[in-house]
Amino acid sequence: MSEQIYGIDLGTTNSCLSVLSGGQPRVLPIDGNGLVPSVVSLDGAELLVGRRAWNRAAAFPEQTIKSVKRLMGSNEKLRLGEKTYQPEDVSAMILGYLRDEAERLEGLKVRRVVITVPAYFSDAQRRATIEAGQKAGLTVERIINEPTAAALFYDQLRVSGQDSQDGEGRWKYALVYDLGGGTFDVSILRLSEIIEVLASTGDTHLGGDDFDARLTSRLLETIREGGGPDLSQYRPAVARLTAEAEKAKIILSQKGTVHIAEAHIPTPDGRPVTVETDISRGEFEEMTAYLLERTTDFVGKALDEAGIRASDIDRVLLVGGMTRMPAVGQRLNAIFGQAQRPVVDPDLSVVRGAAIQGAIITGENIEQILLDVTAHTLGLSALNARTGNLDCVPIIPRNTPIPAVRSRLFATTMENQKKVELKVYQGEAIDPDQNVLIGASFLELARAEAHCPIEVEYSYDLNGMVHMVAEQKGYSRRTEVRFDSRNPQGDDFQSLDFLDDDDNDDGLEPASPSRAGEGINFITRRARTLLEKISKEENQAVLASLLERYEQALANDSADLDDLEDELLSLMDEI
Ligand code: ADP
Ligand code: MG
Repeated sequence: MSEQIYGIDLGTTNSCLSVLSGGQPRVLPIDGNGLVPSVVSLDGAELLVGRRAWNRAAAFPEQTIKSVKRLMGSNEKLRLGEKTYQPEDVSAMILGYLRDEAERLEGLKVRRVVITVPAYFSDAQRRATIEAGQKAGLTVERIINEPTAAALFYDQLRVSGQDSQDGEGRWKYALVYDLGGGTFDVSILRLSEIIEVLASTGDTHLGGDDFDARLTSRLLETIREGGGPDLSQYRPAVARLTAEAEKAKIILSQKGTVHIAEAHIPTPDGRPVTVETDISRGEFEEMTAYLLERTTDFVGKALDEAGIRASDIDRVLLVGGMTRMPAVGQRLNAIFGQAQRPVVDPDLSVVRGAAIQGAIITGENIEQILLDVTAHTLGLSALNARTGNLDCVPIIPRNTPIPAVRSRLFATTMENQKKVELKVYQGEAIDPDQNVLIGASFLELARAEAHCPIEVEYSYDLNGMVHMVAEQKGYSRRTEVRFDSRNPQGDDFQSLDFLDDDDNDDGLEPASPSRAGEGINFITRRARTLLEKISKEENQAVLASLLERYEQALANDSADLDDLEDELLSLMDEI
């Protein structure tokens, strides 16, 4: 048997490790229950990770790093003692700790892993996650979306008959609602022979931390109202109160009220204060209602994107520790009625799904295939002939099932143009500057008339790698680039930009039939010129008849236009 692949949920608040054992995903009991706080803390010269680091967080906030996941993909520098770290270094410490503990507790050798990320993570954030894995000495076999992993797990429960409430067989549409410590994700899945993600959206800055922060403000207010100092800017006090707030929040999931009595809250002048108060579940729900409202707004958005109604959802899957808050279930009940069912360990379903994905990769006997969707539109910048601006023209739209291959026809803007610049963007904006530049390249051209067709094809794979092929139609000039998001081009972008400044011949405009009458004629124009030039009669006849059919299709905008266009272009290539 090939070496096993472990699943890792690298969470904002908690991380876990799981592996398939006897056909079932088993969570390793690291730090007790397997939920390892994603916290790193410096204790003298010793670097602590997990529960022991978490225990120090409130008392030594300056030497502790929490919620590093929110910074993944950024260039933020994090200080710990004398040293500074990148976010991926800190994540690597957490991953290394999971690996070492698995070995220490059970003698397991963890090398190959599947790591989960929020569905809404950008390529840069996914790349940083892969880097963290590499820095920890792990081979990251795949990055998968957390909601998808959760669905894999719940579907496996159903298949293996452990989901007793599900007598009616496989659900067709499921909605995954994942409210964790720092991120919120909602995804809509269609289940048939495959699991397909129809839509996924969310917010990487919305989670349990925000609920804790609301309760913390309430405690700071109580101190002020009791004649105490304003401690809202004093980090040691805020850290202490935040830890208390989180405990209170968890109690309120079980009880109607919580009594908080904490002495020795530090103050800047060294005279500690005490906070004592009661908070009811009702009050807590009221002060955080706007946060849950934001999550349900995203639910509506996801339904719109998937093009289905709430009543189409057969099952709502709750994921993330925050979904233990009763108000979450109540709100979802109001939207989905009976579709929602209680779930076991909402904070462990993602890591269990990741272990199942690992087993699928090694070819263990699990009957599931997985489809995913693109989280962002992938486009190419091209000249808008009407406005004269550079626009992002979508090639693979957001929410396209991946792996995906899509192509689109563009055209040069000038006669004898020497090259076209190809800049690949990720994002929904029309203005390229508002999107993320993933990679850039150019295609050197053969001498040709203006409006010469350039076909650009993108492939997008399961790891978020983009492969671009651009071809000058009819001249067999071609370039192929792979934007390995683990290894971005960095400096090359600069030199390309520079190259273009003094050289104004890189124009490219969209030329797909659906886009513009302007972009169409170049094909027919070229075919006519060719028709006049060619000598062989048989060629002439074939081309003339195909051209006629194409022009007709063009005029009527008929369904076979694309096929005819391909046929015509390749015929011209041959001649
Ligand atoms: P993440 O995926 O972000 O790492 P988790 O799914 O582990 O997060 O959820 C962590 C969040 O869930 C924290 O904000 C924690 O306080 C919260 N949480 C855990 N248990 C409960 C509970 N019983 N009631 C309310 N919130 C809870
Ligand atoms: Mg999570």
